[in-house]
Amino acid sequence: MVSDVVWFDRPISQFTNLMFSPGTLLGVHADLGMGSPGYEWSDKSFIAACVAPADELIAQDDDTVIAAVMDDLRKLHPLAERQHLVKAKLVRVPKSVYRASPSAERLRPNSRTPVRNLLLAGCYVDTKFPASVEGAVRSARLAVDSVLAEARTSMGSAVTSSRLP
Ligand SMILES: Cc1cc2nc3c(=O)[nH]c(=O)nc-3n(C[C@H](O)[C@H](O)[C@H](O)COP(=O)(O)OP(=O)(O)OC[C@H]3O[C@@H](n4cnc5c(N)ncnc54)[C@H](O)[C@@H]3O)c2cc1C
Repeated sequence: MVSDVVWFDRPISQFTNLMFSPGTLLGVHADLGMGSPGYEWSDKSFIAACVAPADELIAQDDDTVIAAVMDDLRKLHPLAERQHLVKAKLVRVPKSVYRASPSAERLRPNSRTPVRNLLLAGCYVDTKFPASVEGAVRSARLAVDSVLAEARTSMGSAVTSSRLP
């Protein structure tokens, strides 16, 4: 994944929501300048985009990546002209999330491991949720529940559940 932020000298979109754009490099993007007035760059567009999958682009130089992103941005927002671009910042994250390819699901480990006191928590754990904040939180709950179940077994009913009311 390449995280890409581009700043413009004017508004180039009117959208304040997160945008998913199948068929483009921009898996998901948002115009934070328009959608988040608390930022210093308000009233002008600055767009944060996740370029994913980025297998080919990630090894390219910044100018090549920015040019490709700008091409797709212009398809979505015709005002996103290069001459209005003030600056751009790229962050390359080669192993950001696991690839949700066919059969990948069965590679996700359980929270429990063969080592009794070792539990796994992280979005890669098999929670049936995708690699996301929600998936990470659910994996933590699985691990905590295992710890509590173990403690309950050894300490009795004084140990309460992690379940929220
Ligand atoms: C650009 C991007 C955009 C995303 N957007 C979204 C989104 O909009 N919504 C969503 O739900 N999810 C999103 N995700 C996915 C989400 O961020 C992850 O699925 C989630 O953060 C995973 O949580 P985690 O606790 O499993 O791992 P992480 O959040 O990666 O936490 C792992 C932590 O462990 C630390 N660490 C690693 N190795 C060591 C070590 N050896 N010693 C000590 N510390 C170590 C790391 O520094 C890190 O802080 C996005 C991910 C990326 C990269």
